[in-house]
Formats: sequence, C-alpha cells, structure tokens
Amino acid sequence: MAQAQAIPERHPALGIVGSLFRALDRIAAPPLCLICGQENASAPDGTAGVCDACKAALPQFPANRRCQLCGGLNDTALEVCHECATTPRPWQCGVTVFPYQGAAGDLVRDYKYHRTTAYAPYFARAIAHQWRTAEPLVHPDCIVPIPLHWLRRLQRGFNQAELVAKFLAKDLGIPCITPLRRNRQTGHQARLDAEGRLRNLRRAFCVPPRLAPQIADRTILLIDDVFTTGATLSAAAEVLLASGAREIAVATIARA
Ligand SMILES: [Zn+2]
Ligand SMILES: [Zn+2]
Repeated sequence: MAQAQAIPERHPALGIVGSLFRALDRIAAPPLCLICGQENASAPDGTAGVCDACKAALPQFPANRRCQLCGGLNDTALEVCHECATTPRPWQCGVTVFPYQGAAGDLVRDYKYHRTTAYAPYFARAIAHQWRTAEPLVHPDCIVPIPLHWLRRLQRGFNQAELVAKFLAKDLGIPCITPLRRNRQTGHQARLDAEGRLRNLRRAFCVPPRLAPQIADRTILLIDDVFTTGATLSAAAEVLLASGAREIAVATIARA
C-alpha cells in the first residue's frame, strides 16, 4: 500500500483508480429523488425513486374507488367505470398508477419524449405495487409490451412500454416477451372516432406465425404507457387472443 503512494501524480493508473472510486461512490451514494433531486428516495433495490414530498404532490386515484378494468377512477356503483361498462374491453382486469394529469403527466411525458429512462424502474415498481394491491384473479404467465413501429422506435430511441415491461417482469418474476409487431405507422389517430381508431389499430398489430407458439394458451399481462380510450390495448389484446393467447390483463403507468 505504501508503494501506491509513491506513484507519481500523473501516473495513468491513478486516473483509472480515480474513476473506479468515483464509480463506486456513485453506486454507494443513495439515489436522488427523480423529481426534486433530494436524497433519501431510493428503492430497496438501489434504483432511484421519489421522495415523500414529491410523492404527496403526485395526483392519485382514490384507493377504494378504482375501476377493475382500467384502474382509473370508478365513477359508478358497479365494479367498473362508466367508460369500461359501455366499451368492449377484451381483457379480464387492469391496473394503472396515476391519473394522467399534473405532475404525473409531466413525469410520463418527460420519460416518453425526453428519454428519461431512469423513471422506468420506478414506474415498474409502482405498477407492481398496484398489481399486488388489486389482488387480481388473473395470474399472468408472461408480460407483453405494446410495440412501436420500428421507425417510431428509431426516432424515439427506445420503446417506453417495453423498458417498463422489462423491469416489471423482474419485479413480478415472470418473463417479458415481445411477440407483437406493429405493421405500419398509424398516423392521425386523433382525428378518428373510437370505432375508426379501433379499426385502424386492429390492422396495425400482428403476431408473426413463428412467434405464435410463445403465447399459445398463455395468460398475458399487456403493458402500455398511457391508457386514453383503451383502443390501442383493445386492438393488441384482440390480436393476441386471435393468435392463441388464453386471457389478457392490462397495466399502464397513467390513465387519461
Ligand atoms: Zn422529491
Ligand atoms: Zn375503467
């Protein structure tokens, strides 16, 4: 050890040792809050989380009034919200984490459009918590993210649903698989009515025949970032069921 002190200051080995120590320091230091940058916001697995003050500022759905199909606010006396009661949902149950508004909306948009991938483990942990809290009767065999068209994926640099799905798979201890393909870009969805969106979207997803055995008779937990009308999830779920899946559950980060 005394010899190490004798190494001249500019010895290249010192640079390596220095960067190694800096790297170790980063690992040992508690991760900062993803929103305000304060300390003490780490998850048990060491990944970054959100501090108590920021958590309190995020909008929440009331725990005892959640729709069993979309996870959003249940505004009826039934077990599902008005929208889910009046729209076909080809899945058994669904959870979401946040209302897609306020600070939660900012968080999701920051993740999606500014590639803030550090949010992914936090979102996955939050979805896993909702999933366990909901105590669903469905037991998924695998997790499937909603795919992006390859061109969109190239532009964005990552698939926001797939990254969360991968962390969620670790958390729930079930595999993440990617049997769905997006056939083409489905532009101008916003201009179509619900039925038009669904028709447009149904043609947009497929499971290539060589990948169909992966989902044969499987219960699938389908993942997307934001639940808006549910049209994207419906179209993907229908394609998975038509390709041999047994049943579907859905989970999203936020519900619009
Ligand atoms: Zn904070
Ligand atoms: Zn609902």
